[in-house]
Amino acid sequence: MTKGATDIAPLLDKIRSYDPKADLDMVRRAFEMATRAHAGQARADGTPYLIHPLRAAEILADMKVPAHIVAAGLLHDVPEDTTVTNEDIRREFGDDIAVMIAGVTKLGKLKYRGIERYIENLRKMFVAMAADVRVILIKFADRIHNLETLDSLPTDKRLRVALESLEIYAPIANRLGLHDLRTRLEDLSFRHVMPQEYEWVRGLAERAIAGKSRYVERVRKELERDLKAARIPVVSIAGRVKHLYSLYQKLIKHERDIVQIHDLVALRILVPEVADCYATLGIIHQRWKPLRGRIKDYIAMPKPNGYRSLHTTVFCEDGEVVEFQIRTVAMHEEAERGIAAHWQYDEAGKHAVPAGEDVELAWVKELADVQTQAATGASFLDRLETLKIDVFQNRIFVFTPSGDVIDLPEGATPVDFAYAIHSEIGNRAVAARVNDDITALDAPLSSGDCCEIVTDKNRRGPNPDWLDFVKTSHARDHIRSHARSRLTRWTKSTPDAAAQKTAGRPRRKK
Ligand code: MN
Repeated sequence: MTKGATDIAPLLDKIRSYDPKADLDMVRRAFEMATRAHAGQARADGTPYLIHPLRAAEILADMKVPAHIVAAGLLHDVPEDTTVTNEDIRREFGDDIAVMIAGVTKLGKLKYRGIERYIENLRKMFVAMAADVRVILIKFADRIHNLETLDSLPTDKRLRVALESLEIYAPIANRLGLHDLRTRLEDLSFRHVMPQEYEWVRGLAERAIAGKSRYVERVRKELERDLKAARIPVVSIAGRVKHLYSLYQKLIKHERDIVQIHDLVALRILVPEVADCYATLGIIHQRWKPLRGRIKDYIAMPKPNGYRSLHTTVFCEDGEVVEFQIRTVAMHEEAERGIAAHWQYDEAGKHAVPAGEDVELAWVKELADVQTQAATGASFLDRLETLKIDVFQNRIFVFTPSGDVIDLPEGATPVDFAYAIHSEIGNRAVAARVNDDITALDAPLSSGDCCEIVTDKNRRGPNPDWLDFVKTSHARDHIRSHARSRLTRWTKSTPDAAAQKTAGRPRRKK
């Protein structure tokens, strides 16, 4: 890596370009803290660690998110991997940034352990995290840079990260309407998950697109002329190429025959107003005959993730089948950047600037919408099963050291946690380690805590006093039934066995 790779100037320029009023000083201070915290650390490929958060922050700035989210991106690995704590970050940058980073750290504790368990865990986490999309955006930026630098990792780890991105992250990006992120996640992972298939599709697409480019240009010119004659204002007409992973999925559905793929290259027309979209559709259909059943009005009926556009597939010049996508500039922004498109900035006074609070308000509303969708299960994460949010109300989600998520009622204690894992762990629990601190067994847990139960194999069983504070009937039943069975066992055991059981460590009072 060159020296300039850890230069913050390009990042600041990027932020300035979409938000001239951004607090760049704060971003600079975040960078300085990250520089100090990660000093001397290197990534698997030997490059300075700092390059990673800096690149993640740049990916966030490409999404044009507010500066404080970019700053959080710069600091996202600090509490996890350095001696600087989340508390230090809170003191220096305030609650909001500290909360975002804590969210990223928690989400990072989820480990991929096979698709089914992972979906279950992630589903719970998303509800628990109140679907703070800012956290998800930072996590996505983090993941994209990790995928870009995956080659330096051992094969098994590479495959795990890529699979996880493909099966979990990309569908979530899709549900949030983050099209650009989704395609990047998919294509970056695809190469690692199925290297041979990836090369096959890439070669196929390259040849097919090369053969089409002149033709597409010809159609573009003709359409431009027609639209001009009809006085329809046009912002741009451009060819868009299908991204590799979605092309691959389509090829699988169509006997791997690229001739059957009609939207490998589509023409995308951006116009100022909704009325112009329909007028443009009319012009296209006047000139070329549409294929039956291939006209899609996602403006009148948006896709569940909010996507809006008109699509039509026509028999075009020389009888070739071509897809057109028509949308306004605003719809395009939304289609590419999804939820991230809702932050607005003062572009040299071009449009009214919502005050900081209004922006946050819009953001909160957006969040509420996402959660409402989650509640009905109609669209958000619908591929991951129907979500019933009421089931999760008044629940907390606690991690095991290996990254599983255990869901418990509010106020649950390490004893409830222990029994939720296994009755023997509950029976032999003597203490708990919560986020690395030794904690009493009756101390209530909170969402996102990482809990480890300290057991003593010589412990004879649960303490009946635990019944005073446990919150789950599962734990309560076990404690009660153990008390009963111990009585029975006691009468059955030989004096020798009883003596052995009490051997070892001195028994605890409590
Ligand atoms: Mn990271």
